[in-house]
Amino acid sequence: MVAAASVPPGAETPPAVVLGAGYAGLTIAHEVYRRSKGTIPVVLIDRNPVHVLRTELYEVGRLASSGDSDAAWVVPLAQVFDRTSVTIRQGIVQSIDLATRTVLLDSGEQRFRSLAICLGSVAAYYGIPGAAEHTHQVYRLSGAKRLAAAIRDIERTSNALPGERCPRFLIVGGGSTGTELAAEIATTDWKAIADPAARPPAVFLLTGSLPFLAGFPPSIIERARKVLARSGVTIIPGLNVTRVEPSRVYLEDGSALASDATVWCAGLEAPHVVRRLPVPHGKGGRIVVEQTLEVPGHTGVFAVGDVADLRDPRTGAQVPATAQAALAGAGTTARNLVARWNDRPLVKFRYEERRVVVALGLGQAAGAVRKVPIWGSPAALLKQIIQRNYAHSIEQGETPSTLI
Ligand SMILES: Cc1cc2nc3c(=O)[nH]c(=O)nc-3n(C[C@H](O)[C@H](O)[C@H](O)COP(=O)(O)OP(=O)(O)OC[C@H]3O[C@@H](n4cnc5c(N)ncnc54)[C@H](O)[C@@H]3O)c2cc1C
Repeated sequence: MVAAASVPPGAETPPAVVLGAGYAGLTIAHEVYRRSKGTIPVVLIDRNPVHVLRTELYEVGRLASSGDSDAAWVVPLAQVFDRTSVTIRQGIVQSIDLATRTVLLDSGEQRFRSLAICLGSVAAYYGIPGAAEHTHQVYRLSGAKRLAAAIRDIERTSNALPGERCPRFLIVGGGSTGTELAAEIATTDWKAIADPAARPPAVFLLTGSLPFLAGFPPSIIERARKVLARSGVTIIPGLNVTRVEPSRVYLEDGSALASDATVWCAGLEAPHVVRRLPVPHGKGGRIVVEQTLEVPGHTGVFAVGDVADLRDPRTGAQVPATAQAALAGAGTTARNLVARWNDRPLVKFRYEERRVVVALGLGQAAGAVRKVPIWGSPAALLKQIIQRNYAHSIEQGETPSTLI
């Protein structure tokens, strides 16, 4: 076990450092400040000066019509931590040295006494040729904005396409992100945004070898399937993508689909800086953590959110890579970080999914609340209220109280 580095008498104690100001990191920084009443110095590091509302990045229609403003998808960190003593440091994490308890940033070094690694996830391309080079993604704001601009430009000139051909958009990945994105593209009024003569897009959702909306209740899957069909989304099940070219996607049965823009929603993995750490790694390079969310062998070092790999010991089920789980894990981590700092016992993380709701465009959604199916406009309204509450609470400088 690597113990927290001892500090020579008279030297300043290094702070608790939180890497990543996403759902997990922002909550941990806030909660450590609140629980310790400001007595534990906290430094929050992110490459951006803003917290990105990542769960809303499927809204490419709104992004395409918002010009250069991304104000609706970000909250400035300075505003969130305005009334706290949390120090915000902007920088890109290059490496983490767990032995010397130092983080190397593009802008210098940062020592730490405790650490919370909350660097989220990046697209996993599984070595499929052309996937990284020729697809868009909505996992980051910059990517979602690029996709929105690309679709708007394709729609703008769509009436010049030969014959009756409509613009074709291929979404790879039939989980909730791919489904929300397919619905959004298919139901956006591109005539209003791009050009009055814009042709409606043809949207294809490729689920690969996984079933459409795997893990959702069967009744919800059926409803989502019907809503997507009504919106003109074609679901192509059962075939993995084997190669991607700029305007073509090849499938494992040898067939190829023409595409004006392809979006990769097929999976996530830990960022490179996390994969390189000399700690136990699970699927996609995620850090295998103890039930306390501490990294094995590294006292006071925690990994939370999409970077963490944890199974619920009662059910054996993997804690999902969702904002909801990241927020829940962040609460436990903040508590344990403060406990470690004060030499108190840690608690175990217990995760229970409260709800999952997938937006289906045009004020429709489908999902489950405590495993009870919910759909239609009530589901869409619930999702909207949860998202607004979350954004509102952090804009007010409060610890996020709602779970997405
Ligand atoms: C379109 C979409 C819709 C979604 N919808 C839902 C939903 O409805 N409900 C739900 O629960 N989940 C949803 N998710 C999943 C959810 O967004 C993630 O699980 C969640 O963001 C994970 O939180 P996190 O704190 O682990 O990482 P993130 O929120 O991604 O935060 C990671 C932070 O680390 C920073 N960072 C990364 N690398 C570096 C570096 N090297 N240096 C400095 N900073 C770095 C990033 O800038 C970012 O701020 C959705 C995801 C997407 C893409």
